[in-house]
Amino acid sequence: MTQAASTQLMLLAALVFGLLSGVALGLWGGRRRSTADQADPDCRRQLEVLTRAQTATERANSELRQALDQMEQAAGTDRLTGAWNRRWFEDGAAQLVAQSGRGDGALSLLMVDLDRFKRVNDTFGHSVGDEVLKSVTTTIRGQLRASDALVRWGGEEFIVLCPSTTLAGATILAEKIRKAVEARSIPQVGLVTISLGVAQHQRAEGLHAWVGRADEALYRAKERGRNRTEASLTIGESHGDGESSILALTWDPDLECGHPEIDHQHQQLYHLSNSLLSAITSGRYPEEAKLRMQLLIAHVAQHFHDEEAILARMGHAGLAAHAREHGRLIAKAKALQQEMGGVSTDLPAILGFLALDLVKGHIMVWDRKFFAELAQD
Ligand code: GH3
Ligand code: MG
Ligand code: MG
Repeated sequence: MTQAASTQLMLLAALVFGLLSGVALGLWGGRRRSTADQADPDCRRQLEVLTRAQTATERANSELRQALDQMEQAAGTDRLTGAWNRRWFEDGAAQLVAQSGRGDGALSLLMVDLDRFKRVNDTFGHSVGDEVLKSVTTTIRGQLRASDALVRWGGEEFIVLCPSTTLAGATILAEKIRKAVEARSIPQVGLVTISLGVAQHQRAEGLHAWVGRADEALYRAKERGRNRTEASLTIGESHGDGESSILALTWDPDLECGHPEIDHQHQQLYHLSNSLLSAITSGRYPEEAKLRMQLLIAHVAQHFHDEEAILARMGHAGLAAHAREHGRLIAKAKALQQEMGGVSTDLPAILGFLALDLVKGHIMVWDRKFFAELAQD
């Protein structure tokens, strides 16, 4: 995205020059003033000229700073990070929201917040905190497409606006960003983490309601331990907590393999499966069941990807066959998702997929093959 960087740079250079010349004049004037009492009238006059020059420079600096603030607002960018600012978002996103109501292109956003950032400032100082903000924004940018926009929402909170992106796609992106930030050590500070809330814009939903849902999801991510992504499914949803369904998969602790990431992801697949079953059996709008299916597929794809990376690291002999099985399951899930567009959803087919393919087939049969190796690892 093009930003008015060069104009800002010129103003910034002028500001730095102004500040430096102000400091130089100040120092010189101060030194002269210390001997001014004994100085002759000529010297006093020179001093007055210099003092007036210094005052004029200070006024010019302050005007430049104001001009820079105005430029920042007008250019729509944040000076520290180069990200778009809140005002740009409110104008730009309002237009996208209006278009999203007319067409059928998906539109999603991620709300990003640095975890325990106050501690960074308290421990290393505010300027190191600023460097952390710059470094994290660079890492986030590295994961984005040209059409995505990174916005500084305020303080240590950012929004990533993703046109033509469904909730599932945005959730995958959120996890990519989270992992990239987690993996990058920042000089002096070390590792920092972020939490993310994801929401897809719903037809006829206002901008603030949409941002509010992403914020709620972010709040859940913080509550559930930070360094994680939570998605907002739809307006007025329940998030599976306390949600009951006549059909539900029950997590069995015997299925734990002892690898924290894999166990966490397996449990999340259970949670998302139950959330999907609940949406189908409770007779909510088909739109909601479709969104939940999308979210489940996004998590399954991410889980398979991570699992294959772990198996590759272990040098697992059955990796190729395991990856083929993953491919088959994803294809089956997508085929079921395609069929969900109609008036009624094929509940037995979906239930069969979740219980027999995903849980019994994937976790109980395929993953068991490497549980023992994992324990040795
Ligand atoms: P949580 O995980 O709950 O988000 O904890 P937190 O400490 O990140 O949250 P909190 O909102 O309490 O603190 C945010 C901190 O971000 C406080 C504020 O001083 C700091 N901050 C906001 N803007 C800037 C900035 O531009 N530069 C620096 N260095 N710090 C900032
Ligand atoms: Mg924070
Ligand atoms: Mg915050």
